[in-house]
This record gives sequence, C-alpha cells and structure tokens, in this order.
Amino acid sequence: MTRRSLRVRLVLASVVVEVVLLSLLVYNSHRLMHAELSAQAEGRLEELRPLLNAALAAPLAARDLATLQEILSESRNEHGIAYLVLHDHGGNVLAAQGWERAKAVPEPDASLAASHHDETARYDTRIPITLAGQRYGTLHIGVSTARQREAETRLLRQSLLIAAAEVTLTVVLLTSIGLWLTRHLHTLTDAARRMAAGDLDQQVPAGGEDEIAELGRSFNLMAQAVRDHVATISRSEARAREHAGIAQAEQGRMSALLSAMSIGILFEDREGRTIYVNPALRRIWRLPEDLVPEGMPALELIRKSPNMLSRPDHFSRHVLQVTSTHEASESFEITLADGRVLTQFTYPVRDGGSRIIGRLWIYEDVTRERQTAEQLLYLAERDSLTGLYNRHRFQDELGRMLATGARFGREGALLFFDMDEFKYVNDTYGHRAGDSMLIRVAGELGTLVRRNEVLARLGGDEFAVLIPEAGESEACALAERIVRAVAQIPFRVEGQNLRLTASIGIAITPHHGRSAEELVSHADAAMYQAKESGKNAWRVYRPDLDASRAHVARMSWHDRIARALDRDLLRIHFQGVHSSTDRRVTHVEALVRMVDEHDTERLIMPGHFISIAEQSGQIVDIDRWVIDRAVATLAAHPQLPAVAVNVSARSFDVPGLPGEITAILAHHEVEPKRLIVELTETAAVSDLHDAQRFIELLHRAGCSVCLDDFGTGFSSFAYLKHLPVDAIKIDGLFIRDLPNDRDNQLLVRAIADVARGLRRTTIAEYVEDEETATLLASFGVDMLQGYHLDVPVEDHPALHGDDGGTSREG
Ligand code: C2E
Ligand code: CA
Ligand code: CA
Repeated sequence: MTRRSLRVRLVLASVVVEVVLLSLLVYNSHRLMHAELSAQAEGRLEELRPLLNAALAAPLAARDLATLQEILSESRNEHGIAYLVLHDHGGNVLAAQGWERAKAVPEPDASLAASHHDETARYDTRIPITLAGQRYGTLHIGVSTARQREAETRLLRQSLLIAAAEVTLTVVLLTSIGLWLTRHLHTLTDAARRMAAGDLDQQVPAGGEDEIAELGRSFNLMAQAVRDHVATISRSEARAREHAGIAQAEQGRMSALLSAMSIGILFEDREGRTIYVNPALRRIWRLPEDLVPEGMPALELIRKSPNMLSRPDHFSRHVLQVTSTHEASESFEITLADGRVLTQFTYPVRDGGSRIIGRLWIYEDVTRERQTAEQLLYLAERDSLTGLYNRHRFQDELGRMLATGARFGREGALLFFDMDEFKYVNDTYGHRAGDSMLIRVAGELGTLVRRNEVLARLGGDEFAVLIPEAGESEACALAERIVRAVAQIPFRVEGQNLRLTASIGIAITPHHGRSAEELVSHADAAMYQAKESGKNAWRVYRPDLDASRAHVARMSWHDRIARALDRDLLRIHFQGVHSSTDRRVTHVEALVRMVDEHDTERLIMPGHFISIAEQSGQIVDIDRWVIDRAVATLAAHPQLPAVAVNVSARSFDVPGLPGEITAILAHHEVEPKRLIVELTETAAVSDLHDAQRFIELLHRAGCSVCLDDFGTGFSSFAYLKHLPVDAIKIDGLFIRDLPNDRDNQLLVRAIADVARGLRRTTIAEYVEDEETATLLASFGVDMLQGYHLDVPVEDHPALHGDDGGTSREG
C-alpha cells in the first residue's frame, strides 16, 4: 500500500507540477500571442487611418457621396473590416458599407484588446476625417477580430494538446520508472523478508551502475556478512555445546564416583550453604529422604539428622573453630548417641587460583573399624580360652606394679601357680577335657580376686595374680583361698569324678625382687617349693631354699645351647608357605632344631630352648647362624624362591645385624629379595622405635619383612601403619580351630581386610585342615602354612624346585 502510494504519489506530484507549469506556459503564450496579434491589428489600423482619411477627406469635403460609397465598399474588402459608416459633421450618414444606415452605429471600444471579449467579435472604433485641419466628418469602422480569435484558439488548442501529450508521456515514463524501481526494490524486500524468516542464502541481481544496483550490492554484502556472522556464532555455539557435552560427561563421571563412595561428602559454598551431598552422607547422617539439603547451612543440615550427637556443644565448637581458619582440619571424631563413631575432615576448596570458593566436608563411619580394633584390643589382652588377661597384659601390669611400688615405696604381691599333674589329665583325657577344666578353674578364680587384683592365664595351666599395694599376709590369705577353691571344684570327665589341685608360689616386691624377671623367677621358685612340699599348697619365696628345678634347668640349658652352637648341633628344617589360590610354594620358613647331644637321633624343638636363649642373649648367635645357613641354602638351591628366617627381638639391639645380613648375602651371592625376615609382633610393638629402624634398615638391604604372630601382641591396627612390613602372619591361635570359631572368623576376615587396605600380604599359619584352608582363601588371606600343607623337614621339596602345586603332604 505504502509502496504503491509512493509510486502513485510520485507520478501525481510530477503530473501536478507539470500541469501547473504547462498551464502557466500555455496561458503565457496565449497572452503573448493575443497581445502580439492585437498589436498587429492595431498597427494595421494605424496604417489604415491616414489612408482612409486621405481617401475620404476630399470627397467628403466635396460631398461626393457616390465616391465616398465607392471608397467604402472597396475598403471593406480588405483588412477584415466588418463595416464602415461615414457620418458628416452633423451626424448624418453619408455612406455606409456592411451596416444598415438606419441602425445606430455601435459605441467605439476603448481599445482593441478590450474589444476582445465582447460577443460581437469586432473592434468598433472611429476615425475623424480631416482636411487641412478642418474636420469634415467621422468614419465609424468595425474591424473583425474573428480571425485573430480563431488563431488564438487554434494556438491554445495546440498548446493544450502538446501539454496533454507531455503530461501523458510524463505519467507513462514516471510510472514505468517507478515500476522498474519498485521491481528491484521488491526483489530486495522479498530477499530481506526471506532472510528475516531464516533463509540466509539470499542474493539479489546487482548488475549495472545505478543506485539500485549499488543497493543490491550492498544488500548482498550485508547478507554475506550476516551469513559469516551466523556461521561464526553457530561454530562457537557448537563448540560451546561440545564443551558443555564434555563438562556434562565429566560431571556424570564425578557424580557416579561420589555416589559410589562409602565416605560422606558435603560441598558448601563460601556462605556456608550446602551445594551438594552424596548418598553416603545421607546414609551416614541418616538424613530424612524428603530433605533437600541444597541451600541449607551445613551445620543446620546435621542438626536435621535424627542422630543425636553425644557431645553436641563440643561438635559445634569444633566446627566453628575449623571454619574460622582456611586450613584443612585435623581428623575430628564424632560419637553419636547410637554408639556409632564418625570421623570428620574438612578442606577449603579453592578455584584455579587461590581464592577459596567453599569447603568440603568428609564424614566416615568408622564404627566397624573401631569395633574390630576394640575386639583386637580385647583379644590382644585376653586369653582366648578363658577370657582372663593374657601374658602380655600380665607383663604390663607387673611392670606398672613394680614402678608404682618403687616410686611410693609400697609392697606388691605376685602369686604364681599351676595345676598339679595337669599334664597327666591332658594326656589321659585329651586336651578338650583339659581345656574345659581350665575354663572352669578360671571361672572359679574370677570370683576370688578383687577389682584391683589382676588375674591372668600365662599359658597352658599356668596362672598368676598380682595384688598391688599388698604384703605377705594378704597374699597368703588369697593363696589359701585359691588352693581351697580349686581343690573343691568337682569335675566329671568320661564318667569319672576328678579333682584338681594347685600349687602357688608367692613373691613380694621389693623384698624378693625389684625387676619383673627377678620377681617372676622367685615366685616360680616358690611354686616349686610348694610342689616339693607335697602340692595343693602355697609357699612364700625363701631365698635359702632357692634351688628350684627350673633354675637348675635354666642353667643347664644355657650350657647346652652354648655347646650346640660350638659343636654344630643346630639344624634347619623348612616348612612351605603356599599360595592360598593355587597352593604353590611361594617360599619356605627356616625353623631351627637342636640335635640332642646324648641321643643324636633325637631333635630338640625350639620351644624348649628359644625362650631361654632369648633370656641369655644366645638367641642372637642362633639367629645369625640360621641366617647364614638359610642364605647358603638359597645359594645352593637357585630353584628355591625365597626363605623366611625368624629374628628375635633381642636381635634388634644388635646394631650391625642388617649390615651383617648384607655381608652374608653378598658373600653367598644371593639376591637380597630372596631373604624374608620374620619379626614377632609382640617384640616389634614393645619397642616400636627400634623395630621401625630395624625394618627400615632391612628394606634398605633389599630384604622383605614379615610381622609374625600377628594378633597376639598389639593393641590396635594403628601399629600396623607404623610398621612398614611387607607381610603379616596371622597367629596360629586364631587359625587352629577356625571352622568352629565364629569370633576368630570375624577377626581373621577383619585382619585380611585391613591388611589388604594397607597393601600388606597376609599369611595364615597352623592351617591343619582343608576346611580351614578353604575358609582362609575365601577371606582373601594370600598364603597358607601348616601341617595340612606340609610339615617342617630338612630336605624340603621346594629346595629342588618342586613347588608342591595343589598336592599336599604330611
Ligand atoms: P613360629 O615362627 O610361629 O613358627 C611356626 C611354628 O609352628 C613352628 O614350630 C612350626 O613347626 C609350627 N607349625 C607349623 N605348622 C603347624 C601346624 O599346622 N600345627 C601346629 N601345631 N604347629 C605348626 P617350631 O618349629 O617348634 O618353632 C616354634 C617357634 O620357635 C617359632 O614359631 C619361632 O618363634 C621360634 N623359632 C624357630 N626357629 C627360630 C629361629 O631360627 N630363630 C628364632 N629367633 N626363633 C625361632
Ligand atoms: Ca615364624
Ligand atoms: Ca608364628
């Protein structure tokens, strides 16, 4: 519409202008023509005046009417004269031509131009006829203007015709120019519209030099620019989408990881509002399922937990203190009212730079580990058969009693006792019967001791009681009660009524000894005095009578060990350590034996002399000898993968031992990694610092280290972290009756789990049947050792490259 009106308006305006101009032009030429013609006619009339005056004056003066008439009629033929009437001076018509005499002549017109518009189409005028200055009459003359008018009309008509033609031409021309113009504009408009609709591939024809072509070219340039721009944008959009895709995948992996984790994770922003929690955090804090944690302050979130904190104020204080620093926090332990234990860590989260953008809270439910540790602690201090304290705890308590006794000058009593003829009972009725009798005795003893007294089972049928801050009389009173109580326990074994009796030795610190060894050995001596007195009795240590069997035995054992070392009476037997999966021998353990000097066919087992050698210090020489023989065996048997040797705690004290081991290995040209050193856990834990240094030195020498008798000597898993050993050997105590002992199953499984977490190899000893072996393999214990797989022998098949495979012997 606007488009059309533009064109129409252009044409109309042009036409109007042209019509106005042409009208002016026509009017002007008409006016000029009229003036010109009038001037011509006037001129002619002016010429005529003297002629007519000259012609008429004489006849008029002479009153020659005929001549006058004649002249008038001649004159009328010329010059377009319409009429001629000649009046004399008195107004009488003397002659007339083209006019009725009777009719009055018309009044003269003012001018020729003025006469132009009257309907007579005639110019009426009069000419005075004079002769020699004398007026004789007047000639009335009418000059026809019809021809002039006709000429003017014709001219006007032609002018108008030309103008009309011109206007028509203009209209046609302008319209076609408009059409041509708007056609290109149309193309442009359509292209622009299509572009607006999204079809960017627009190109308008743009040949030529005019402005429209210029406009077309500009349009094409613009379209190209838009296309380029859009292409750039969509490229960067694609890139952004790609980035977003990568980020999304990354996020997906991240959240899968966070969801799979068993530790609780909470991210908070700088204002302390929760941004994210993982499923484990909800589980740990038991958050209600409909709770939306996002946006909630982390502290408030934890308050939403139905778990009551056992010390909420303590917790809040810690959180406030942690959040006020920009550091990673120490591990903080939270005990919940339901007994669960959580650990809490927190770290500040920084962006790429060092700006803190929030905080990460980590919660871990360590209840199970704690329980296992507690259970281990319990087991580590307790005798598994009777539940009484074990030798380890007894030693601790004894040390404590001696220390406080010494500091405050107080006495303290040690009661040391065993069951008379217990070996006979065990041998006759079996150790099951013996065990149940010991359990019964322990129960009975438990009722006799007070809270501050320490009752322990030291092994076998040996028991001890410590009475801190007590002297002889109290000790004797308790000993009397114990002797009587034991003797009164009725046992019924295999249909027979049996009685047990106990013999008790008493030693009082400081009178009978100030050190543990002294006190124990004197209580032991007193016990033998009691036995010598006829058993079922108690005795206080008497130095004058101290010639106890044990003492004598000890003395002689010392000599026997010395002679064995001297005369080459020690032997090594090897027992295989097998992979729990394919049962192949991974290495062998070297176990020392002593040839009986009186009966060279008989071998004395280490149980008889190792503890004595440890007390006397001879163990260091034994160990050295065993290491040397073991390494020589490795050198002689290249097929043998590795040998484990037992090294006593006393050997830690020998500063040069690791160096000696290196020298022995070098001497025999044996690869250090083929030698494994077994340290008993009790020894390692009792002198953690020395053990650490010793292990470190052995590692430097290239040997592996195994913690022996694991589970008997430590009070928490924490020690394991501090002892960088390669393997742990779970004590036989936990393995022996494994299929029937649920507690031990739990414990062994826990040990295997923890060890695996710390990347330590696990070995189980005392594997005596297939059921135990299968169970251990299912717990993930790596290696097995025991009579079920093979017994220690001098010439083990593994020495000859026979790895045992899945077959077994012994
Ligand atoms: P250990 O290091 O725990 O060695 C394992 C003991 O358990 C060995 O007793 C072995 O014969 C025995 N054994 C292996 N499998 C079974 C089984 O299935 N059932 C039973 N009931 N026993 C099994 P052994 O040879 O009498 O050694 C006793 C302890 O003497 C060793 O215990 C070790 O602590 C110590 N010992 C042995 N040789 C040496 C040595 O050269 N140096 C030092 N310092 N100690 C040694
Ligand atoms: Ca061992
Ligand atoms: Ca062991």
